[in-house]
Amino acid sequence: MHSIRLSHLSVFAGVAFKILILCWIVFLLPNKAVADSAGLKQTCRLISGKLASVSFEDCNSGGLVESGAFSVQGKPILLKEYHPLGSRLPRARVLVVGGTHGDEYSSISIVFKWMQILDIHHSGLFHWIFVPLLNPDGLLQERSTRTNASGVDLNRNMPSSLWFEMGYQQWFEVADRNPRYYPGHYPSSEPEASFLSELIHYFEPHAIISVHSPLGLVDYDGPGSPPESLGSLDLRRLGNFPGTLGNYAGVNKGIPLITLELPSSVRLPPDTEISSLWRDLVRWLIETVPVDTGGKGIWVEREDIELTREHFGK
Ligand SMILES: [Zn+2]
Repeated sequence: MHSIRLSHLSVFAGVAFKILILCWIVFLLPNKAVADSAGLKQTCRLISGKLASVSFEDCNSGGLVESGAFSVQGKPILLKEYHPLGSRLPRARVLVVGGTHGDEYSSISIVFKWMQILDIHHSGLFHWIFVPLLNPDGLLQERSTRTNASGVDLNRNMPSSLWFEMGYQQWFEVADRNPRYYPGHYPSSEPEASFLSELIHYFEPHAIISVHSPLGLVDYDGPGSPPESLGSLDLRRLGNFPGTLGNYAGVNKGIPLITLELPSSVRLPPDTEISSLWRDLVRWLIETVPVDTGGKGIWVEREDIELTREHFGK
């Protein structure tokens, strides 16, 4: 008797669970979709209100979606994926990131421009993910800031291996405790940095392009051969630092990483230069990525050498 009751109970529980799932699918999913699109719309309205070169339609109708991750102030971090095409196996996966620092306007705008180029020319050559604005709170304040809403430099908050040993020490000694370079309380303490490291973990890019300003150069971390120049910008390797994307992705994870430093934070390069930069980037990707480590297996870089060459601009 007892067992019959139990089995009745378990059947009832099973049916109830199925009804619950059904309700969730029928009622909650559409609401989630509406909420998502409202979040995208609202964020695009704010971005286009801040950046003259990004229209609301560029942002809202360009295929960007909410990643599911949010900034400290609850703004969605947007991304756009250019999936592999059925007819062609992509050569590699490539991640493009802009707006790590909210006051580097050109680093966000140029990523939107490149997405417009790819909207027309995506041929399946690469599998791309674009994150045009990693730090929405930094950009979307009345006075845009380098740091996020918690006052943390996201390019010092990545979970790189020497963060605990050297992150704070370098901030004290080299950056003279400048708040613009504050690395946070602990690695990945910030949702934006945490999102980026998770995206790298799951997407497993073969190369990363990270756009900054205003040093006017090409920097490079990781294995492989860096490009000697891109557009009118020449290679000048600056080294990296605990908590930077260069240290985390390039040095620790061995992913070739180009940091493109545009010459101005407020002015976009001319259209011809925007196209040249993109053409040269794609050319370099075709020639170099995936990187051949020469059969040496895991690529290792001497962190101590790299870390002596840090430049505090990026
Ligand atoms: Zn920057």
